[in-house]
Formats: sequence, C-alpha cells, structure tokens
Amino acid sequence: MLCPSNRLTFPYIYLNLKHLYHKDKAILSAAAWLKRFSFNLLEFFLPRLCLFCGGIVAEEAAAAVCPDCEAKIAWAESPLCPRCGLVFASREGEDHLCGPCQTEAPPFRRALAAAVYDGPAAEAVTKFKYSRRQDYLPVMHTWLQQPHCLELAAAADLIVPVPLHKKRLKFRGFNQALLLAQAFKDRKPVPRETLVRVRHTVPQTGLSPQERRDNVRRAFAVPRPEEVKDKNVLLVDDVYTTGATVKECARALLKAGARQVDVLTVARVRYD
Ligand SMILES: [Zn+2]
Ligand SMILES: [Zn+2]
Repeated sequence: MLCPSNRLTFPYIYLNLKHLYHKDKAILSAAAWLKRFSFNLLEFFLPRLCLFCGGIVAEEAAAAVCPDCEAKIAWAESPLCPRCGLVFASREGEDHLCGPCQTEAPPFRRALAAAVYDGPAAEAVTKFKYSRRQDYLPVMHTWLQQPHCLELAAAADLIVPVPLHKKRLKFRGFNQALLLAQAFKDRKPVPRETLVRVRHTVPQTGLSPQERRDNVRRAFAVPRPEEVKDKNVLLVDDVYTTGATVKECARALLKAGARQVDVLTVARVRYD
C-alpha cells in the first residue's frame, strides 16, 4: 500500500503492519483499520512537508515539494537532442541531433524525460527505487504531467513499463517503471507483461556503455506479439542513462511488430 502523502513518512514506517497480513485475517482487518484511522488522524493534524528539505508545503501545492526545492530541479528542456532527449549542458541554441544519434540512430522514434538526473529528481528516483520510499511516487507522477510528457502519452496506443526479471522483482517487491507508468493509466492502457525480461542481468550501474549494451542484449521478449502489432508504444522507465536498456526494449517491441516506440523517463542523465 502506498503512503497517502509525505506527511506521514515516519508514522507510516512505524505503523507499517504489513507483517501481520500473512498471519491472521482477523488481525489483518484490525491492523488495516488501525492504520487507516491513524493516517486520517495524523493527516488532519500534521502540516504537509516537503519531501526534500522537510519544509512546510502549501496545502494547495500540486506536489509535496517546496518552492525552494522545486527551483533546484533542472527540467529536461531545450536545447536538447530531439531524438534521444539528451539535455545539452549549454543552455543556449536550438535543439539539434547529438553526436551519438548522428552516428547511429536509436531504434526508438524519440526519448524524452521530465527532468535532468540531478538534485531533487535524482533523490526521488534513488530513494523510490532503492529505499522503497513510495511516498516519492506521487511527486514523480506530477512531474510526468508536463505537456511534452502528455504529448508522448497521447501519441501512444499503449504504455509499456521496462520490465524487471522475476528474480529482481521478487527481491525488490515492485517494479518502479510500472508504478511510474501508472501516471497515465487514466489515459492509456498499461497492460502487464506485454514486454518481459527473459534474462537475469546484473545492474547497469557501474558498467561502461559497451558493457551496458552487452549486458542487456536479447534480455527482453514480447510473449504475445499481437498485443503490440501495428501499435504505437510508449516505453516508460525511471532513468535514461546511456539508453542501452530502452534501446534493447525498443528493438524487442519493433521486432514483435510495433509500429513505433517512444521513450519517457522521469530523469535523464546529462552526458556531454
Ligand atoms: Zn523543500
Ligand atoms: Zn541524441
């Protein structure tokens, strides 16, 4: 269950009665009731706090981010590469193809991100994935509501999260890309297991670009190609680093008959 708001981060941790779920159904209902009651009570009395600095956030703010922390977010804005979404370090000039895309066009039509992987955006992605801080999810959903992100969602017939291998899913307990993709579930279908990871790979972190490519080669498959045939697919993940993972996913989707693949991530590593 997701924590309903960042106000309750610490009470949420202490009141997490999940371990009772497996023992006794009677305890489960009592525990669930107590948890809900505590949330409601605390939500009423506690101010809404910024997830990043702990400062108080206005009740009407769209996300649990104070103005100071929001100002630290580098949005993935032009000038950027219109193909892979690389955000150029220089903030002057027009959009233009980056060197790698000029050398070898990626298999997807275009990739975009909500923010540059830095500051609060990097913190949100990291804490969500590795510290299981699911109270960061609503904030990232808000970031994914920017016009350029909605434009990609509008162009898609279905939204496909980058899958985890079942072993990693069992270890982590959730697929961060699936939860992020659900930002669009009211607009487009987000089916499960349209794309699957058929090979267990080591984490991409710390690998060179070539090692990343080798690591994910032929790691993905589309079990039911009819689901993607002639469809425009939007692939969603948390971070775009070298793009090795989403490129391999795009190849699998195109091989299965998808008409085109776009990519959307919460954050984009700035490489240049
Ligand atoms: Zn703040
Ligand atoms: Zn590029």
